[in-house]
Amino acid sequence: MATITVQEVAPDVYAVHNRWVEGKSGIVLGRRHTLLIDANGYPDETQAALDWLRERGRQPSLVVLTHGHGDHILGGAPLLALEPAPVVVAHCHTPQVIERQLAGWAEREGASVDDVRARTLWPTVTVGGEGAPGTTLWLGNKTVRLLPTPGHSEDSMCAYIEEDRLLFGGDTVVTGIVPAIGDGDSRQLEDSLRRLSGLDIDVLVPGHGPVMRGVNTVRAWMLGWADYLLRVRKAVEKEVRSPTAMGLAEETIVDEIPFERFVGDRLPLEKHDMDRRHRATVYKIVIELLTGHDVGA
Ligand SMILES: [Zn+2]
Repeated sequence: MATITVQEVAPDVYAVHNRWVEGKSGIVLGRRHTLLIDANGYPDETQAALDWLRERGRQPSLVVLTHGHGDHILGGAPLLALEPAPVVVAHCHTPQVIERQLAGWAEREGASVDDVRARTLWPTVTVGGEGAPGTTLWLGNKTVRLLPTPGHSEDSMCAYIEEDRLLFGGDTVVTGIVPAIGDGDSRQLEDSLRRLSGLDIDVLVPGHGPVMRGVNTVRAWMLGWADYLLRVRKAVEKEVRSPTAMGLAEETIVDEIPFERFVGDRLPLEKHDMDRRHRATVYKIVIELLTGHDVGA
């Protein structure tokens, strides 16, 4: 049985600490609805969260998925057995994000794709899309705004609780690792982070890393990641355009953008294989620039 740590971060709002890379999911005990934010990567942790809720006479009626990556939904199996079933809200691109990962998950587990598909927590309501108005969930006493924030993935959303000025950042806003864009887009993530920095956020519960507090601290942190993505892109552009770069291997360009200079003391180098994470983000930006139309312009 998994043990989880449940931390109250605002009145009736909790951050649940999961074991995959300082993962965080969330619980909101609303007056009319019990909301779960993400299902993390492991069913035993979700079961522990359900047990925690049951001790308080609760069961989730709503689930919000910040996006469809495995470490945020693969723990969802225990939710499938709930009666009545919770409404699972996600971005309209989440089903396709899940669909394209199924084969990989099945292979890793040695199971069939159909089997994994049946055990997966699929959205029942999807929101967002081009030009769609923002979506708000009303829990009876708390207003939860769902904000499409593409960049980490095309289907990323954050959940902002207005009354508590608290943001569940998913993997759009991380505090314990370098932002990951392997399945996303660096410019979109930079835009999303700059847009989010316009919100007053007293408490940030990230998808990975410690909870962060203080309007100015949170704003500076988000802008810091936006600037990181911009600085890396500028540096990569310079490398790609230099006359000696012709035919350079991508890895050689990545070598020119070191962790120390671009992430520095924002994060501890020795944790979570951090240098590899930074290199993966730089590498993605190299690929974006090499395959984009703006190189050499
Ligand atoms: Zn993710």
